[in-house]
Amino acid sequence: MTKEKYNWDLESLLGNKSLEDLFKQWYQTELKLVALVNSFYKTKANFKKWLSLTKETEAIGNRLLMYVMNHNAEELDNPQWIAWQQKIVHVGNELALKTSNWTNLVLENEAKIKSYLKDSDIKDWTREFDLIFKERKHILSKKAELLMTKVSPATTGVNDIFTTLTDSDLKFDDAIDAKGKPHKILTISDAIQLLKEPKDRTLRRNAWISYNKAFNSVKNTLTKTLYYNYLRANKLAQIRNYKNYIDAALENEEVNEKILLAAYKHVASFKSAYNEYRKHRLNLIKKIHHITELEPWDLSLDLSAKKIKVTIEQAKQEVVKALAPLGTNYLKVVNKAFKENWISWLPKAHKTTGAYSIDNTYGLNKYYILMNFDNSSDAVSTIAHEMGHSVCSYYLNHAQTIYTSTDMFVGEVPSILNEMLLNFYWLKKYQNNKTMKLHVLENMLSTFFGCTTRQILFSKFEWEANKLINEGKPFTVSDVERLYLEARKTYEGVSKKALAKINKYPYCLANTGILRIPHFYMNNFYVYKYAIGQVIALVIANEIYNGNKTMLNNYFKFLKAGTSLPPLEIIKLTGIDLNKGDVYQQALMIVNKLIKEFKQIKK
Ligand SMILES: [Zn+2]
Repeated sequence: MTKEKYNWDLESLLGNKSLEDLFKQWYQTELKLVALVNSFYKTKANFKKWLSLTKETEAIGNRLLMYVMNHNAEELDNPQWIAWQQKIVHVGNELALKTSNWTNLVLENEAKIKSYLKDSDIKDWTREFDLIFKERKHILSKKAELLMTKVSPATTGVNDIFTTLTDSDLKFDDAIDAKGKPHKILTISDAIQLLKEPKDRTLRRNAWISYNKAFNSVKNTLTKTLYYNYLRANKLAQIRNYKNYIDAALENEEVNEKILLAAYKHVASFKSAYNEYRKHRLNLIKKIHHITELEPWDLSLDLSAKKIKVTIEQAKQEVVKALAPLGTNYLKVVNKAFKENWISWLPKAHKTTGAYSIDNTYGLNKYYILMNFDNSSDAVSTIAHEMGHSVCSYYLNHAQTIYTSTDMFVGEVPSILNEMLLNFYWLKKYQNNKTMKLHVLENMLSTFFGCTTRQILFSKFEWEANKLINEGKPFTVSDVERLYLEARKTYEGVSKKALAKINKYPYCLANTGILRIPHFYMNNFYVYKYAIGQVIALVIANEIYNGNKTMLNNYFKFLKAGTSLPPLEIIKLTGIDLNKGDVYQQALMIVNKLIKEFKQIKK
């Protein structure tokens, strides 16, 4: 009974068919596309047929894929799902090869296609095709494209090297505790766990040293890996007529450099707020854990131990109450999700860890969520977060016919916003409960600065490193140390005390700590988006929480937009203009209020 009640209804994806039949149906529609690929542009009728077939295939393909992938996530040990997944991927690749000439044909027939798109029943497709036409200047001659395809396997692999080095080759010393007993550190998360050990400072110190020493011992290798990684990414981008790799990433996001530089500038103005928060946090650590002088190995200690326990039914009620400011229509969708079994709630053996709300939602009626609910208050935040994604999928699938996905740039706003509404609700509910109040405020503030100050610091380092490399200047370990320190000074501030210790052992081991950040090795310039998402979500959540009806109306336009507009235009639907700095200052004002409340909590 409970099992059914708290499980998701994946069977409705099949629509009374067997999985095999759904697969056949998908394959047949794909074959229709293949048959049309060399003539889709020849007549208007063909072109329209192509467009409707594309969406039809997408809808069936999504149902098929979501059925198999979500079953697999629940039963990682069941080989039938892996086999199905491999089958779909394999057949999908074969079909993709057969239609691979499509983009070329689109580019060759631009004028014809543009004339077709004047018809009112298909003119909404214009943006989709304009994005392809815009790519023209980055597409090379046929011969060169063939060469690029041939060498492409040899131009990847840096991320593989990084994870192989840090996950398997890197060896950590045992961390010795106060009684002289060694503790094995096999992975990075083992070390992080030991740093949270409240009772044994010697153990924390040794774990900190072991962790930093291991990374420090490969700092030359990591610097070179990063250098060649960026060099390659920039050369490849330049071959495709981009200024550099960062420019390519921004252009693909339809964002300009101005937005990035504005984020760098405005997040720097969070520095004093960050330090006020940090100072009080450190004072609380000192008092709670009875430490007179804090060291780097004390900073990961928890502030609160006692947490509340929540049942699934209570979690549902909390989410509904917290999201009430979004209005009855929004809550109707939330209740629909609970009642119609969109959610797989419970943890079990061989189930994927963590939580997600599905992508690939076109053609679906339920926007599934995977949870591993553990009765903690954090799990309530998680369901509020994932519900933000799923309700967004609901709205945009009911509003859009073509642009039914979300861009990563704005995709996290609806989910972060729900978490924030939950936090505002809890702050009020628990105003006389010191433990919960501390937990909520610490969570809000650490998340805010973690996504803004910290991520922008990383992004600025990456930006400066690429600048050096593109100017043909050397990029050595001492450059890494210098750029990291400069970025820390700009965004976090470095105290005189810390500066005095910076070259002393063991503190100096952390000077190249920035080389540990995995995303630098992934060729994906994106973390600045975390900061923008966080700032926007906080400002919108605060307005909605305080009853701003205009913002609420605007927010629904935002939820329904999908990818029908460039991300910056979608953000503008809420009345926020990222070209101006106001939104950052608004966010800072809200955060300053939270810090004030945080500072009132004395141990
Ligand atoms: Zn999310």
